[in-house]
Parts: sequence; C-alpha cells; structure tokens
Amino acid sequence: MKITRRDLAFIVVILALSITLYIHVQEHHLPPGKNIRKDLPEKVDKYVGLYVPPKAAATVSQTREESATVPEIKLPNIEAPLGQTQEPPAGIAGAEESQQMRDFIMWCKKRGIKLVGIKKEVNDFYYNGAAEEDFLPFDDIPNLHEVAAGLYEIPDPLLEAMEGKTFYLSHLRGRGYTVLGSWSDKNILANMDRGCILEQPLTKRQTIHEFAHILDYHGIQGVYEDPNNYWWYLKGVRDEIFAVGFAYDPRLRALPAGYMDVYSTANAAENFAQHFMYYILYGPEFRKKAQDDVLLQKKYDFFKKDLFNYLDYGL
Ligand SMILES: [Zn+2]
Repeated sequence: MKITRRDLAFIVVILALSITLYIHVQEHHLPPGKNIRKDLPEKVDKYVGLYVPPKAAATVSQTREESATVPEIKLPNIEAPLGQTQEPPAGIAGAEESQQMRDFIMWCKKRGIKLVGIKKEVNDFYYNGAAEEDFLPFDDIPNLHEVAAGLYEIPDPLLEAMEGKTFYLSHLRGRGYTVLGSWSDKNILANMDRGCILEQPLTKRQTIHEFAHILDYHGIQGVYEDPNNYWWYLKGVRDEIFAVGFAYDPRLRALPAGYMDVYSTANAAENFAQHFMYYILYGPEFRKKAQDDVLLQKKYDFFKKDLFNYLDYGL
C-alpha cells in the first residue's frame, strides 16, 4: 500500500487531536487525590487558622463513649491542633495499642476509677478550679501506658482507696499533685474530684507515688472524712514509722539510716509515698538495704504484712 501525502496529513491531524483530548482529560478529570487544586483549600485554611479536621467530631464522641466512667464531666468539642492528623494510628501496632487502651479503660471502670485528660497547670486548678474547657480526651495523652503499668502493679484491695476518685492526666510537664478535696466556696480546687493530677512525663514512679498519698491520707488517715478510710486501724503504726524527726534539707549529702532517698525525708507523707513506691518498683533493693537498717526493715514489714498481704515484689 502506498501512503500518500493526504494520508500522512490525516494521521498528523488525528494524532494532534488525540493529544489535545488527552491533555484536556488530564486537567479536568483526574481523580481528586491527584489534582493539585485539591491542596488549595487546606493551604488557605491553614493560613487562616480555621482548618478543622473532618474527623474531629467523631473522635470526640468516640472518646465520650469510652469515658462513660466520667458522667459528670462533659468533654468539650475540641479542635485538633493544626497539622495533627485525626486518623487512628495505622497498622498492627496501632491496633494493639488502642486495644491495650480499651483494656485499661475497662480495668479502671471496673474499679470505679475515673480517667480525665487535662491541659492546665496544677496552680491554675488550685486557684481557679476546673471547668469544662480544661478537659481533653485522655486517650491521646503521652505516656499513658506508664500510668497503666504503674496501676497494674498495685493489688486490688489497695486500689479500693481510689474507688470513686479521679486520675487527672495532663499534657503538661510537672510533678503531679494529690487532690485531697475541693472547696468551691473558698475557690480552692473548685469543682474537682478527689484523686491525683499526674503530669508529664507520666511514669510508673509518679503514678504509684501519687496513689500512695491517696491510700495514706484517705485510706489510712481518713482526712476530710473520706469514705474509703478502710485502713483507719493502721494510723498509729503509720505515724510512728513514717514520722520524720528532723528538718528537710533537699541538698542533704549523707542519707540518714531508715530512708531510701533524700526526698522521702521531706515529711511523713512523702516518706510514706516514696517507700510505698520503692516497695513495689524496687523490691530487691529495698530488702537488701533493710537487712542492716532497723527502720527500713520496719517500713518494709509494715507494707508487707499490713498492706500487701505478704506479697514481695521482684523475687
Ligand atoms: Zn508526694
């Protein structure tokens, strides 16, 4: 077959038309994900500062369901910070993490322990009290697994001191605080539940230490007529063993006999809380030091026989 000039021209025109059509389709009918125009609204919103991730509402309501243990605290409709995705963590690790989270929430719920996320400093809570806008969904708070790991170490009978109380879990850095009561008429810790404020970085040590204050003040000493004063009969022994008979010096170099660390010499309450924490997390060290330290041995035996039902840790 012979190709004439006319045929050639025809082919060129067809080719040119095809290319034009192809470009047109590319510009106007690409899947949304590939269209550069799609980025525009996000960019504009980012600069205006009004970008609300579409899943924010779903996340909040999901958290509400999970935190059915906190009926009196309504979680506010919080916009996620800019640039932070609202997607749940992807992959198997993420799924496992959220399962562990759900397990922990259920675990607390069964024990009547409330979990609340917060975004305000302790001093602010102390003087201005708690309001709805101070609360956050607690399940995206960093290091929450440390709180779970710490509480899982504590035997159930002792956790009864915490029943009906709240762990306020903070996004902010700090050292934690025990909320022994709430005095709205005096504007002190107004509208707060009894319990503990735990601050970043959340650790097992901090969790167990703050819980120990609740056990000590409410469980043993029964301050502010706490209903969970189940260990009232231990008050005398507690006062005798944990009294600190000298002034606190945080820079103390030589540790006096009877103490695992300097902070526990601050006062009777810190003495109790620190040694309670050492009993659980540093069992072998505590036992070893107690071998030739009469006061430390007394402390160890007090925990072992009177509170932990002869449970030794780290054996
Ligand atoms: Zn303390």
